[in-house]
Amino acid sequence: MAKDDTLRNEEAQRLLSWALTEKLDGPVEVEEPDLPGFDVLAVLGRGGMGTVYLARHHGLGREVAVKLFTAKGSEQELFVERLKREGRLMAQLEHPNVLGIYDADVLSDGTPYLVLEYVKGEDLQKRIAREKKLSQREALSIAIRVLNGLSAVHALGVIHRDVKPANVLLGEGGCVKVTDFGVSKEAHEERLSLTMTGTAIGTMEYMSPEQANGESVDERADIYSVGVLLYEMLSGITPRGAFEPLTKYGVSKQVNRLVLRCLQRDPNKRPASAANLARQLRKVQRESRRGGRGDVKKVSIALLGGGSCVLVASLFILREMRVETRPEQEPTGIEEVIVRPEPVEEWDLLDGYGVEEARVSGKWWRHAGALLCESSGWALIQFPTDIPTEYRLDLEYTRVDKGGNVVVFLPTSQGLLGVEMSADGFLVLGGNQRREMRLKEGVDYQIRIEVTEQVLRVFLRERRVMVRALEALDLSIPEEWQVKDLNEVAIGAQESGLIVNKFQLRTLK
Ligand code: AMP
Repeated sequence: MAKDDTLRNEEAQRLLSWALTEKLDGPVEVEEPDLPGFDVLAVLGRGGMGTVYLARHHGLGREVAVKLFTAKGSEQELFVERLKREGRLMAQLEHPNVLGIYDADVLSDGTPYLVLEYVKGEDLQKRIAREKKLSQREALSIAIRVLNGLSAVHALGVIHRDVKPANVLLGEGGCVKVTDFGVSKEAHEERLSLTMTGTAIGTMEYMSPEQANGESVDERADIYSVGVLLYEMLSGITPRGAFEPLTKYGVSKQVNRLVLRCLQRDPNKRPASAANLARQLRKVQRESRRGGRGDVKKVSIALLGGGSCVLVASLFILREMRVETRPEQEPTGIEEVIVRPEPVEEWDLLDGYGVEEARVSGKWWRHAGALLCESSGWALIQFPTDIPTEYRLDLEYTRVDKGGNVVVFLPTSQGLLGVEMSADGFLVLGGNQRREMRLKEGVDYQIRIEVTEQVLRVFLRERRVMVRALEALDLSIPEEWQVKDLNEVAIGAQESGLIVNKFQLRTLK
């Protein structure tokens, strides 16, 4: 190695160990910074490397988080270089579970800063401190989203290397964002050992043994950290290298096994990738939901034996359910005593899932919180969601082109259901069950589709436009959609561009 490189490496090591160990002890008087182009509104928090401010962009009015670093002197130049490089790298990524970076620059006095997406909420460390420990369902749901984000980051060849509760931001509506790529490294850089070999960087409690030993790491180091994160969410305890079984804290055996696998010293014994672990956790979520529903079903079946009056009356007493009788808006042969419970769980498919993770054909991308699809040909995007037996889908979409159609695919007790929305109205794919009406291109439509064990209901802007008994429907979907093995929610477009502004699933019990 050239002498210059050695010196640079030494300096980099010094800088990073400074950056990671320096703590601002308690409240520190910080002058309100002068950020060109922004109004500083408040201090959001202080971390080991500087202060984070809430600021508003003058021109756009958008609220952002600005992180000012306290690097000084000779350290600053190298730090800025690294920060800009990381900014460039992370700016390539637009993922709902990764905090967005808008800019990386220096102030006129040389202070480095990052302009970041603002998350209104709190970080996971504060949540755990406040709630002591989280329910298994919430902990898994957060971990799955963290893993979705990490999976996208790993796909860029970047290892986060500092996954911990303080670096997981929790926003409104279940939003989860992984942040702070301050010590992240590109995987190829790790392999080439250009910098830092022999130096442990990161946060000790969450660090994999190989990272703590300064050995080379890959994405499985992040999986170890997610294991510690899960352990802490589920038990309320930050384990320090010793992991008692989580079953002691009421955690299921299956989850205990998975978490302990993540915490194996040997990376080969851990789940192979973030996507793999996310899949296994989703399976657990799905199974525990099914388990819970089984009991409810048994109660309902028993009650059904006693006649529908008893059913309705008893459900009133049993749970906080609303029983509604609605005026018919479409003639139907189905007896319409609608028992509509409150939705109990919801997934925002535009938030928790990456386009990267879904099975996709055609060109899809995300922009400003919406999901977009190009206009030509045939396109489908499938969301790897755990589908309950009874649920509702809230969809808000705009068909871009005059011709063409939009289809949602929904698993039901009778098989996969395809509901097409075209200029002519709604059509259940397979049979000739249709509801004719004009659905124009360029118009934003709010649709709700409810699927129960027996019935399909479609609502347009809160008006019910279609009710069908599932059993009576012919659900054979045309070959061209290639959805033979599909058992998850999907949306497709044919010969038309599509903008999806809302795509939300809720369980109906
Ligand atoms: P950090 O220096 O990244 O550890 O951040 C210090 C504090 O600022 C943390 O407690 C976070 O809760 C808060 N914070 C950091 N980034 C953001 C953000 N993008 N939006 C909202 N709060 C943030």
